[in-house]
Formats: sequence, structure tokens, C-alpha cells
Amino acid sequence: MEGKRIMKTNILYQHGTLALLVPGLLTGTITMKELLQHGDTGIGTGEGLDGELIILDGIPYQADSLGNVKVVKDDFIMPFANANFADFKFLTTLKDATPAKFATVALQEKENANTFFAVQVKGIFSYVKTRAVVKSFPPFDTLEATAQKQSIFEAHNIEGTLISYYSPSLFHGAAVAGFHNHFLAADHSIGGHVLDFKIASGKLSRQLFDTLEQHLPITNKEFMDHNFAKDNIADVISKAE
Ligand SMILES: [Zn+2]
Repeated sequence: MEGKRIMKTNILYQHGTLALLVPGLLTGTITMKELLQHGDTGIGTGEGLDGELIILDGIPYQADSLGNVKVVKDDFIMPFANANFADFKFLTTLKDATPAKFATVALQEKENANTFFAVQVKGIFSYVKTRAVVKSFPPFDTLEATAQKQSIFEAHNIEGTLISYYSPSLFHGAAVAGFHNHFLAADHSIGGHVLDFKIASGKLSRQLFDTLEQHLPITNKEFMDHNFAKDNIADVISKAE
């Protein structure tokens, strides 16, 4: 077994929490090289909320606030990310689907509402609206203030992949309850954190997880010393994400 990675497809790996971003703990505490040990698929953000990340087929892309999409290097650091080893099962083809329709189908009428899962939709999107946050530098401001500096992008009739992570409401704070959607166009002309979309025609596949592996940045003194009791975590995450 030496040197062989164990690729457990029942695990959702999460580095950091959305809660730690709320007071402005935006320092990168994991490298992309480390994150890719835990999955070939994922989402996240860079240090100082430097753009939006989309990992597909083991390749990590960053959509930045200038509208560029580029592959990031192994030493790229992040305060927050999700990753999993892809084992998606095809569910259905969606046509003319809004976010509400997407959610209903992906949740199978709430059958899966109490566990974590990832969803991919590959196809043609009649509309997609994304955002990418402008990178901040230390000393970092709060999530609310930092996330206000963002660029919005829109595209029509674009081929691409929606990658989504669903978290049960119980975990709001560690993650954002419900769906957290990122998008990458097939031609890399647009990407980012998804604010709105309409699927013209897309294949929806899903991967259920029975385990959340929550990794915390215990070598980061700011994080270890921070008192989260005073932070308005749930409300801020709902607004910013
Ligand atoms: Zn996001």
C-alpha cells in the first residue's frame, strides 16, 4: 500500500469553517497541494478571499475579481475549502431548470436533507451570474466588509459545470446551510461563486457522503485565540454566502 492514496468517496473533506471567515480570519492555512490529497473535486477561496475556486478532475481553477480563470499552483493557500474524491451517480437530465427546480431534484423532495452531498450539473446554461471577491491583504476586515468588494459576471447560453455542496441546516456556521454553488465554463470564459442560474439542458449527478472530515487550522494562533461568542455567525454567513 505504500505511496498509494486511499480515495474514500464517502467523505466530504472541509478545511476551515465559514464561521472563522466571519470575524476576518482570512489567512491561508492549507496549501492546494495538501487539499488535493483529500479530493479531486472541490470549491474554496484563497487567502484574503482571493477569488473563487473550482476543482474539477484534479485541476484547481481560480476565478478572480478581474474575470480571469486560471489554474492555481501547489503553494496557493486557502482559509476555507471543500473537497471530495468524485464518485458521482447520474440522476436525471434537467431542462429549463431554475435554482428551485435544481434544489428539489437534487434533494429528491427532501429525502437527503439531513446529510452532506455534492452535485454536478454539466450542460448548457441559458443564464449564469457569478461573483468573485477582490483579494484583501492583512490586517483583514470582517467577512461582511471584505465580501462587499466583489465583481459580478454574467453569461448567456454557456456550456459549463455547476459544482454544488449541500450542507444540512444543523451545520450552518461550519458551512452554509443548503447549497453552495460554484461554476466553471467549459471555455473558462467565466467562473465563480454562483448567485443565479438557469439550466437549459444539463446532466445532474450526485454523490452522497456519510462522513464530514472537518479539518481546523490549529497552527494558526489567531484562530486558536479567537472568541467566536461575539460574532454574529449565522446571519453574516446567510448574507455573504
Ligand atoms: Zn462560494
